[in-house]
Amino acid sequence: MTVQQAPLRQRSVRYVKGVGPARAEQLARLGVRSVEDLVWYAPRRYEDRSRLHAIRQLAPGQVATVRSHVLAKSLRRLPGGRTLMQAAVGDATGVLECVWFNQPYLDKFLRVGEDLIIHGRVEASGRRLQVIHPEIEHLDSTTDDEQESADLGLNMGRLVPIYPLTEGLNQRWFRRIVKTALADETLAAHDALPERLRHAHHLPSFAWAVGQLHFPDTWDDLEAARRRLIFEELFLMQVVLASRRARFASRLKPQRYQSSGPLVEALRNRLPFDLTFSQQQVLRELVGDLCQPHPMLRLLQGDVGCGKTVVAALLTAVVAQGGYQSALMAPTELLAEQHARVLRGYFEPIGIAVRLISQGLTTKQRDTVMQEIASGKAQVVVGTHALIQGGVRFANLALVIIDEQHKFGVVQRKALVTKARLPDVLVMTATPIPRTLALSLYGDLAVSTITQLPPGRLPVRTVWYREAQRLQAYEDIRQQLRQGRQAYVVYPLIEASTRQDLKAATQMARTLQAQGFPAHRVALLHGNMRSKEKDAAMRAFVEGRTHLLVSTVIVEVGLDVPNATLMLIEHPERFGLAQLHQLRGRIGRGGFASTCLLISDTADELAAKRLQAFVETTDGFQLAERDLQLRGPGELLGRRQHGWMRFRLADLSRDAGLLELARQEATAEVTHHPEPLKPSRS
Ligand code: ADP
Ligand code: MG
Repeated sequence: MTVQQAPLRQRSVRYVKGVGPARAEQLARLGVRSVEDLVWYAPRRYEDRSRLHAIRQLAPGQVATVRSHVLAKSLRRLPGGRTLMQAAVGDATGVLECVWFNQPYLDKFLRVGEDLIIHGRVEASGRRLQVIHPEIEHLDSTTDDEQESADLGLNMGRLVPIYPLTEGLNQRWFRRIVKTALADETLAAHDALPERLRHAHHLPSFAWAVGQLHFPDTWDDLEAARRRLIFEELFLMQVVLASRRARFASRLKPQRYQSSGPLVEALRNRLPFDLTFSQQQVLRELVGDLCQPHPMLRLLQGDVGCGKTVVAALLTAVVAQGGYQSALMAPTELLAEQHARVLRGYFEPIGIAVRLISQGLTTKQRDTVMQEIASGKAQVVVGTHALIQGGVRFANLALVIIDEQHKFGVVQRKALVTKARLPDVLVMTATPIPRTLALSLYGDLAVSTITQLPPGRLPVRTVWYREAQRLQAYEDIRQQLRQGRQAYVVYPLIEASTRQDLKAATQMARTLQAQGFPAHRVALLHGNMRSKEKDAAMRAFVEGRTHLLVSTVIVEVGLDVPNATLMLIEHPERFGLAQLHQLRGRIGRGGFASTCLLISDTADELAAKRLQAFVETTDGFQLAERDLQLRGPGELLGRRQHGWMRFRLADLSRDAGLLELARQEATAEVTHHPEPLKPSRS
């Protein structure tokens, strides 16, 4: 791989001929600061100006590009303060009417007799043809004739790029500076992809690709150029991840284990069920990792309810048997408590000490727990992010398990890992992630997936009711409660209006108790309750003392109450698919048939599509793929945390195939050429 003199990234656009300080500032608003930004700044579309349309041949409904001149124009004020700008434009074959509302400034830009390119959708208006809000581009230059003639090759007679620009920048000027930047001969030396790869996958050179990205010779060339550039982006990301993976895996850890032994056997024998085939397989993978001399760094994926906890428990048994400590970190207090409860159930009878760090502890209790962690007496330690806070010292922490990984920031994950010298790390998530995102987000991890649910689970039936059918929904709930089952009613909470939403949930709980379900006990659970109250409410529900739990979204993650068989979700249109899926995962956990009810009259098309998809499938991975298509990766991941995954051209919801290839090649590159790659961009 060749390294360039001055990377494009470091060269300011200021040094491109034609860009002065004022222009540079405007470009910065587009995110274009360096020459690299400029050459990667992709057109939003292209116009085929080698084959312009003749006005006479246009038909309503057609999206057309015509070259014409302005015959007449008028600007009128409409009642209500709106303005109407009209222009008649013509070519040798006919006349077309252009219409703009509320763009009075166009009056200055349009001059009768001037040549224009018009682009837009043609519509019939009486017997005439018109285009509403066409895009226009001037072809005459009144300022710089010489430059104009030089530009003609960029603006006419070819596939012409149309850029997403802000006000004050025009297309022709932008094309010109792009062309100037592309002419820089150092571009030819700038190629982040190893020759080997370009050859193997028929990837054109960088210089050619960026040239074609802006001024493609044919549509096919454009496609080849884009493919090459997208591959480059994905490859460079994957190289970073693969190097991280390799660096981690090259270290030797102090802890050593045996895959079997009395504690592990004792736990296995105590389990009230057989592990599913998939759980066994994954467990073998994980224990295999533990027994390696290198630290484990693995993601355990599995749909809600597939039984990740017990697999994690068996892993901690291996560690405890080896004489080391494990830490299990959960995203909420409730979930940490649930884990502690489950693990105590498994471990106390066989003499493994489980400790919970929670806010509920008194200072004295907390001190005791801290001491036990520091002395090594506490073999399995469960907690929320409290686990990574300064005060907690472990004697010999060797395994770190992070549940519901997506709920934690990257920073927290790192902080816990630094508590131990070279711990084995397992992160678990029940939020199915489309493979493309998993490879990007967790590309530095090995991945195991539990693909099976425990036997006897009945798929949850999902019904979408309209508001008018609310009473039917209540009747459905009543039926379940009468049979001794329990149910959830879930309210979304939206930060901006927390108080109001809380009021809605609180009121709903009251109304349901008084009017809807006087014979049963209705309880309320929401995020603003004090942790003791939350606990009490939760425990009452887990123990079956309350029957209908009206809750905000905090039941979302991990909660396990097998007797709950119905969930009514209010305002389901406010939730994302992943969240809905998590919520629904709270029911259908026992041997009983379960139902998820949605009540929504949403008029939002996208939301309706989400709900429809949710009704149609219970497969978390399918839903995740659907979510990715509907929302795009940015929103799915949350912009803030994953800003580094913003690509210039790549789109994770579209480029799955190239991503796979990039991952393979990046892994091969890092394995065969372990010296750090010096990509010209990163
Ligand atoms: P998740 O993977 O969503 O964290 P859990 O670990 O909470 O799922 O498990 C869900 C429920 O399934 C628990 O009640 C657990 O005891 C039960 N379970 C786990 N594995 C099995 C199995 N192999 N057979 C039967 N039930 C199981
Ligand atoms: Mg779980």
